[in-house]
Amino acid sequence: MATLFERIIAHELPATIVYQDERVTAFRDIHPRAPVHILIVPAKVIPTANDIADGDEALIGHMFTVARDLAKREGIAADGYRLIMNCNAHGGQEVYHLHLHLLGGKPLGPMVSV
Ligand code: 5GP
Repeated sequence: MATLFERIIAHELPATIVYQDERVTAFRDIHPRAPVHILIVPAKVIPTANDIADGDEALIGHMFTVARDLAKREGIAADGYRLIMNCNAHGGQEVYHLHLHLLGGKPLGPMVSV
């Protein structure tokens, strides 16, 4: 069965897509935690960071260069932003299709609340 994010990538479910190429799709998070909250998702289904293969290195690097370019386009590059990839239960992962969160647009506070 297709993951939720595969269905967004295939335009079967609505989302505000801000960037798409053959390798990644970026769209706005449905519950934004910051003024800018974008998810950068590979077309290849990799469930978690634990499942990243050595052969995925270029793809993972591409996710970061897309995040860099989107940060510039969203006007948050100079002030700064946060990139997060949650993994499994302790990481708070909800959707088991790898994704990079791009968050910014305000001071984000401490990295992890304790
Ligand atoms: P995770 O906790 O897995 O790192 O993050 C999953 C993210 O996906 C959450 O921030 C959540 O708000 C977002 N999300 C879940 N379902 C949808 C959806 O249907 N559309 C969009 N645009 N974002 C979603």
